Amino acid sequence: MWKPTRRNFLRAGAALAAAGAGLKTLAALAQAPLGQRPTRDAAVQVINPLGRVPLSFFIDDSSCLVNLGHFCMPQFAEAWPTRDIYKKPWKTWPREIPDAFVREFAEFCAEHGVKGKYSVVPFPACVGRLDRELPGWSRQELLASLKLVRDVMLPNWDVHPEMITHTRVIDLATGHPLPEISSATMENSYPQGKKSVDELAAYIAYSLRILKNCDLPCEGITTPGGFGNAVKSELSLAVGQAVREVYGAELPHYFKYVSGGKESTQPKAEHVEGLDTDSPQAVISLPAGTGDWFGNWDGDAAPEGHRYANADATGGRMVELIERGEPAVMLCHWPGLYNQGAKTGLEQFKQVVLALEGRYRDRTMWMKIGELARYWAARELTRIERDAGRTTFTAPFAAPGFTVRLPATGQAPPQLRFEPAAAGRAPASEPRPAGSGAASEPRPSGSGPADTASPVALAEAKEPRDLKPGTYLRQADSVTVCFDLPKGRTVLSA
Ligand SMILES: [Zn+2]
Repeated sequence: MWKPTRRNFLRAGAALAAAGAGLKTLAALAQAPLGQRPTRDAAVQVINPLGRVPLSFFIDDSSCLVNLGHFCMPQFAEAWPTRDIYKKPWKTWPREIPDAFVREFAEFCAEHGVKGKYSVVPFPACVGRLDRELPGWSRQELLASLKLVRDVMLPNWDVHPEMITHTRVIDLATGHPLPEISSATMENSYPQGKKSVDELAAYIAYSLRILKNCDLPCEGITTPGGFGNAVKSELSLAVGQAVREVYGAELPHYFKYVSGGKESTQPKAEHVEGLDTDSPQAVISLPAGTGDWFGNWDGDAAPEGHRYANADATGGRMVELIERGEPAVMLCHWPGLYNQGAKTGLEQFKQVVLALEGRYRDRTMWMKIGELARYWAARELTRIERDAGRTTFTAPFAAPGFTVRLPATGQAPPQLRFEPAAAGRAPASEPRPAGSGAASEPRPSGSGPADTASPVALAEAKEPRDLKPGTYLRQADSVTVCFDLPKGRTVLSA
C-alpha cells in the first residue's frame, strides 16, 4: 500500500528521475496561471461523472512500429554522456514493437472498457516522419500501422504527439535535427532558456500537423519528459494556440505533470478567459497519479504491477486514489509493456485491470483523457446560481454525464429545462474537423435538441451504480442529478 509519507513521495520522485527520458514534472511544480473562475453556489456540488471515480491510462513513448526504447537510448547516451542509465545494451533490443502487440493490447482494453491516452510520436527518434516515410519498414507496413491505430485505438484512446521526435530538437525551417548535440538540443530538456508562446506554439503545431497528415484526430499533447520546464506558463498557452490552430479544437489539453503523495490528481483549467463571451478559452492540464511501474521507458525494468493495485485491489496507488475519490490515472511507457518481446508488463497490466474491475466495477469508470478534460472544464468553469429550488447552470463547455449533488427541497421528481442561448450568445457551433470528437457536443439525453425550453423529467435511479444521464438519486437529505450538460443555460428544479 502506498503510504503518502515524505519518504515515499521522494521515492516516487526518484523513480521518476530514474526514468530519465520519461521524466515528468511533479505537479507541485506546475505554475501556469489559472485565470478566470465563475461564481458557484456552495450548496451545489459538482461530483464525479455518474458519481463514479474516473480511471484512465496514459501511455507515453508509443508510435508506429518504432521501439523508442531501442532508438532513443543511443541518442540519450550521446546527449548525456555521464549518465549510466543510458548505457544499456540497446542493440540487443528489438527495433520494432509489432502491430500484433498493438492489436492484442487494444482488444484486451476494449473488452474491459479501459480508456486513456496513447502517444503517437510523429517523427519517432528521427527515424522517419509517419506522414512521409519510415526507413526500415515498407510503405505498406507504415500505412497498415497507421490504419491499425485509427481502427483499434481511436475508439477508446485519444492520440497525442509527444513533440516531434522525442529525441533531437528539429529546426522547423529545414526539418532536420539542430547541428549541435547536447542536452540543450534534446526535446526532453528543451528549451533551456525562455521562449515566446509563438515560438513554442510553432514547434507544437509542427508535431500536430504530421499527425493531421496521417488522418489522426487530436485535441491535446504530451510533453516528452521535461519539455517546457523552463516555460510552464508559456507552454500552457502555446498548447492552446497550436491545438486550436491545427485542429480547430474547442478545448485543448495536455499531459505533463505527475501528482505524488497527497497532491490532488484533479485536472486544472489554466489561462481561462472569456467565460461570459461567445468564445470562452481554457487549456486543461491533466496530471497522472502514478509512476511507471511496468517496464519503464526503455522496457528494461522488472515490472511491479502490484504498486498500481495488488491481486485483490486492497492495496496500491490506484486503490489509494479510488478510495480518495479523485481521478486515478495510471502512467506507463509503451516499451515497458512490451519488454523487448517478453510482454511481462502487458501481463501485469492485465492483472491490475482485472483486480480493479473485481473490486470497483460499480464505483469507477474508464475515460479518455479528452473526456476527463471536458468534464473538469465543465466542473470548474460552469457558473452555478441557486434561488430557492431552482439551480441555474451557465456552461461555457458542454459535458456528458454531468453530475451534481444538492440539498433536497421536496419529493417531486427533479426537472431540467435547457434554455436557448440568449440573443448575441451563439449556441455551440464551433467548426470542428470531421472525426475530431463529434461526441463532445452532447445533446441532453431523453429530450429534444438543446434549444428546447420545455421541462424534461428525470427517471429515478434506485442505487448509486444506476446513475446515468437523465436520472436522479434521492438520498437522506440530498438529491444527485446526472445529465448531459449542454453549452449555455440549464435550469434544474429539484
Ligand atoms: Zn515520453
